[in-house]
Amino acid sequence: MGDCIFCKIIKGEVSCSKIYEDEDFIVMLDAYPSSPGHALLVPKKHEDNVYSMDPKLLEKVSPLTAKVAKAIKRMSNCQGINILQNNGEAAGQTVNHFHVHIIPRFDDDNITMQWVCEEMQEGQIQEIADELIRYL
Ligand code: 5GP
Ligand code: ZN
Repeated sequence: MGDCIFCKIIKGEVSCSKIYEDEDFIVMLDAYPSSPGHALLVPKKHEDNVYSMDPKLLEKVSPLTAKVAKAIKRMSNCQGINILQNNGEAAGQTVNHFHVHIIPRFDDDNITMQWVCEEMQEGQIQEIADELIRYL
């Protein structure tokens, strides 16, 4: 946490291109954007990932994400927007301070976000659903 780059940004020790701030969050532009306008929504209180986020704070994430997405859309006339949030190294998280990516997409951009669709045996998806239900 002491070395957390986003905490340093929030404390003002490292600069950023901030586009929004309230008592709980900052929204800044990604320093290494996938496309122009790529924004990061970051809670001021350090949490590593979604697992430890206070549900009350999480309730505020979606409305703010949507507000920023709409602003990016109006500004850039992008054809689409990806909203994504990585948890853990295996999922591509490189900064261990919860954040949401808001990424404008254009028909001719070079971004690839593809995953392989696995074939499943008949009934296998339902088995997984039945097991998962027990954890909810
Ligand atoms: P993750 O891979 O953890 O989901 O995303 C971390 C994001 O933080 C990356 O897109 C990366 O470009 C961005 N990032 C890393 N360091 C900095 C920084 O110092 N300032 C800003 N604004 N963004 C950063
Ligand atoms: Zn942090």
